[in-house]
Amino acid sequence: MLADAGVVGDPLRRCAVIPAAFDYVAPTTVDDAVRSLAEAGEDGKVLAGGQSLLPVLRMRLAAPSKLVDLSRIPELRGVREEGSSIVIGSMTTHYDVQRDALVREHALLLALTTDTVADPQVRHRGTFGGALAHADPAGDLLAPALALDAEFVLSGMDGRRKVPAAEFFVDVFTTSMRPGEILVEVRVPKYTGWSAHYEKFNRVAQAWSMVGVAVAMRTESGTIAEARVGLTNMASVPVRARGVEEALVGQPASADSIRGAAERAAEGTSPTSDGNADAEFRTHLAKVLTGRAAMAAAGV
Ligand SMILES: Cc1cc2nc3c(=O)[nH]c(=O)nc-3n(C[C@H](O)[C@H](O)[C@H](O)COP(=O)(O)OP(=O)(O)OC[C@H]3O[C@@H](n4cnc5c(N)ncnc54)[C@H](O)[C@@H]3O)c2cc1C
Repeated sequence: MLADAGVVGDPLRRCAVIPAAFDYVAPTTVDDAVRSLAEAGEDGKVLAGGQSLLPVLRMRLAAPSKLVDLSRIPELRGVREEGSSIVIGSMTTHYDVQRDALVREHALLLALTTDTVADPQVRHRGTFGGALAHADPAGDLLAPALALDAEFVLSGMDGRRKVPAAEFFVDVFTTSMRPGEILVEVRVPKYTGWSAHYEKFNRVAQAWSMVGVAVAMRTESGTIAEARVGLTNMASVPVRARGVEEALVGQPASADSIRGAAERAAEGTSPTSDGNADAEFRTHLAKVLTGRAAMAAAGV
């Protein structure tokens, strides 16, 4: 099917579309999708929920020759359990991740973070894999995926490979996916019994994070036994706040010890200055939000 810049479908019902012309295919298997993408060469692009890609096409910031729509591939949807991991299909919508019982039981941080993404309309269309593949530094799901040591399963003409979250995000809107590869699923180790919280600071009019902090924590008899902290929008890629993690572990789950640990939130970060916030304000936010997120996760 060809969607033209000026005419779609029946010429008697002419209707202008804004993007440049592109071919459109909607395969039903991952293998067919990979083949279609390979045939398109460098100009092919994957379409998931379209929440980020369609605005880009409408503004003609991208003009792919072919769109490979993944929405008709059943294998890419849903959450399953595999041993010590849960596996989230890349085309699982934000709405479904939010409500999934396995996610809530074993990766609560992801469910809570997804609750904060955009609005109900976007959460019904936008996908877990699309948000991660898009790699927007303000995207909320990147830091939790990093903090939880998620693993990304990619499929291309050379077969499948797994990439840890720490190697997946390379730069602003840039991942280590090779041309022609599709994100099939994300494997998340189980954090059963861990508490969690995602705290973000955003403008009232839009949900995008100026800074966000993802915390997952395990306490034993009032002491913090394990902690994982990921930061959103404190660099071109999500950052793990290892200094905070080190400072939290072994401490009582109290407001005082958490406030002290949160002071290390900006270590190893390189926040940018933009129209929303400058680097100094982002640094301040990272400390304050880390304290709030860790206290909420610790229940104090
Ligand atoms: C009004 C609005 C508000 C938003 N607010 C927030 C927010 O507060 N927080 C937040 O985190 N996000 C927010 N988003 C973004 C939202 O989360 C999107 O759903 C997400 O960024 C992209 O997901 P998608 O499924 O729509 O992907 P698409 O838009 O279809 O694709 C995005 C990009 O990823 C690529 N891609 C998608 N899936 C795959 C795959 N499986 N394999 C390889 N490449 C793939 C596409 O080729 C494209 O380049 C907002 C979006 C809108 C429109």
